[in-house]
Amino acid sequence: MMLDFSDLAVVDVHCHPYTRKDRLSADEWVDEVSFGGGSAEYLKAGGIAVDDAALETLQRVKRDTLYFRYMLRRLAEYFQVDATVAAVVEARNRAIADQGYAAYARSLHQAGRIETLIVDDGHPLPPVNLERFRAETGVEIVPIFRIEVLIQQLLDEDSGWAKFQRAYDEGIALALSEGGYKGLKSIIAYRTGLDIDPGSRSSDQGMIALEKIRRARGRGGDAIKNLRDHLFCRAIERCIDFDVPLQVHTGMGDWEVHLAACRPALLMELLRYPAYRACKVLLVHTGYPYQAEAGYIANVLPNIWCDLSEGLPFAGNAGKRIIAEVLEMAPPSRVCYGSDTYGTPEPFYTSALLGKQALAQALQDLIDDRFMTEAEARDIAKMIFSENARELYGI
Ligand SMILES: [Zn+2]
Repeated sequence: MMLDFSDLAVVDVHCHPYTRKDRLSADEWVDEVSFGGGSAEYLKAGGIAVDDAALETLQRVKRDTLYFRYMLRRLAEYFQVDATVAAVVEARNRAIADQGYAAYARSLHQAGRIETLIVDDGHPLPPVNLERFRAETGVEIVPIFRIEVLIQQLLDEDSGWAKFQRAYDEGIALALSEGGYKGLKSIIAYRTGLDIDPGSRSSDQGMIALEKIRRARGRGGDAIKNLRDHLFCRAIERCIDFDVPLQVHTGMGDWEVHLAACRPALLMELLRYPAYRACKVLLVHTGYPYQAEAGYIANVLPNIWCDLSEGLPFAGNAGKRIIAEVLEMAPPSRVCYGSDTYGTPEPFYTSALLGKQALAQALQDLIDDRFMTEAEARDIAKMIFSENARELYGI
């Protein structure tokens, strides 16, 4: 008897809001739902001509992945059509035309038992209107504030340090006190990396770095890293003040990620700095492919959580292995389901299916190996799919 978690409620601890897309061509749909690689914009930005043959190749690459094959098959079952992109896209377009967009999105979320989406609205930009998104999805939406959006706005202005630091602190405080945001998020792993010295918290570091950046008109060498590291430390301090969690992107992302400096281990020194031990930190993406590091950190440091997003669903069949490796060290009470999905409602649904399948497989192995009973496995699944995230975010 295989474990079955399909009836369990889901809180997706890390994902992104999306705008309404009623009718998509097959190629457009593939661009919306596939992983962030194979982008025509990436080639164009490098001065490479993208002709029809190149676009066709990009489409083929996107449709080739294990992740995409799984998603397509689950959607074909949902719509009861052939497992081809043409048939699935036609079925979703027809369903939206027949039912209306909101009813369609709701039925998919209900089918995955998705109750709550904790969304980082720093992607896509400009930000999606969350009131509209809430109405269209029919689920609870909990927004998280991405500090890099604010940092970019402040860098684009021509202010000195006094004004910059005030605007930064006030922007965060406003988001958390009146903006409805339930926590902060940083993608510093996409920018200058996770090797952040706790000494960066000194305000002098921020001031000197900003002055250098202003003088160099954007080309400040190490200054941009020094400034981002300082602002990251300030974000930790604001999270402690407001008693909200900080999500830190670790591990893989799209092609922009600083792949050599995204390992969770690089954060250790900062996370165990005495003044920062009170901050609740969620290591987003479990640092995949370095998930064992994230699991270990969640074991030895009491205020660290990890989510399973991005490896789940984008690493396809690795889902069960990622979960097994995280659970080697991480207490199950410190692990949350997340997807990092975006674009349209369909991948939110298929990611929840894959997450439940992968966790069932990983926990079944642990039952077989006599680490737990079936009842314990079910309790752990409930914690990972909803209870841990509800406790962490107080929702
Ligand atoms: Zn994300």
